[in-house]
Amino acid sequence: MTLADPASGILDATRALGVYVHFPFCRARCPYCDFATAVCEPIPHDEYAAAVAAELSARAGWFRGERAPELRSIYFGGGTPGRWRSEAIGLVIDTTRRLFNSTGPLEITVETNPGEVTAESAAGLRAAGVNRVSLGMQAFQDHLLAAIGRQHSVAAIAAAVHAVRGAGIDNLCADLMFGLPGQTMDDWRHSLAALVALCPSHITAYALTVERGTRFGALDRAGKLQRPDEETVAAMYVTAHEVLQAAGFEHYEISSYARPGRRAVHNTLYWTGGAYLGVGASASSFRPLHDGTGWRFSNPRALKTYLRSAAVGKGNPLPAKIEHRAAEDLENEGLWLGLRTSDGVERAAHARRYGRDPLASPERAAAAQKCVDAGWLSVAHDRLRLTDTGFLFADEVSSRLWLGR
Ligand code: SF4
Repeated sequence: MTLADPASGILDATRALGVYVHFPFCRARCPYCDFATAVCEPIPHDEYAAAVAAELSARAGWFRGERAPELRSIYFGGGTPGRWRSEAIGLVIDTTRRLFNSTGPLEITVETNPGEVTAESAAGLRAAGVNRVSLGMQAFQDHLLAAIGRQHSVAAIAAAVHAVRGAGIDNLCADLMFGLPGQTMDDWRHSLAALVALCPSHITAYALTVERGTRFGALDRAGKLQRPDEETVAAMYVTAHEVLQAAGFEHYEISSYARPGRRAVHNTLYWTGGAYLGVGASASSFRPLHDGTGWRFSNPRALKTYLRSAAVGKGNPLPAKIEHRAAEDLENEGLWLGLRTSDGVERAAHARRYGRDPLASPERAAAAQKCVDAGWLSVAHDRLRLTDTGFLFADEVSSRLWLGR
């Protein structure tokens, strides 16, 4: 069996497919960021759009067929895809719609940064078909934005929200970060309140992670990065949970909060084992198969390598990483991902999808009982889910429940 083997048809278990489009360009590199992105002027808008469209055409067949899932979302991430010319985004959206089966509503998201969205660019996104914009706000204090190397000011946040809403895009999402160098609990409370006042439909609140290969990584190793301690970071997480829930947001995934009916369709697909095709430099894909196994693969990370490989492969770049995942691996992953969500893991659905109850193994049942005793996990006859405290120990719980390690 090979990745492109049409005989190994794609699984329809979730009936949902997402397309992720990576746009690997930014105005400047933030010192904490290890994403595949580059500072490049001028941006090759059309060349990149043509490569992405060709890749969609070359790979769509891997995600089609009699029992193929239906396209539910297109997500432009990066990098800063809000900087991509809107006609190029429109070309990618039109190509995707043409290639995949989609009869229901389609969530089409573009990530961008305050300071990089204007009334004109937001109108262009709307005209291209975008119906959801995610703004990387990160903090509401100019000194903190400067400390993490962001290119925008607090004043630019409200202006960006105004521009997006003015263009008729009301599904507005915000990213906010905690655990930043120099950030106090008062700063964090103020950021949460300021964000709530802007009435977004969705919030992702996440802790700064210091990655080894970044500028912050080097500063940290040299003892020059002063960050809040672990207890404060945990308290910030709990504060976000309390403040945002009180403001009417549902805390539906470890880092994600939504107004009723505004959960992220695309990310939910990742957490529920759905199929996704990632196109563009570094983008990852998951193709689940009828036999319970699946392929995970990702594109070359460097832009030049991606473009060269895509050209040689007639739109189909040689994956930089490719992995055939056994059914047992996917079952472990299904449990791990499901436990990230407030819905947890529905036992009957898990058994239908993976062929066994999540606690069928005595080894895992014993590990689960220890997590229950620690107050991290709740086990009912119909589902497993993390408790509020358990959300803080999600990785620990998942690692204990992972079979075969
Ligand atoms: S804007 Fe986003 S993708 Fe670009 S460097 Fe900063 S964190 Fe990374």
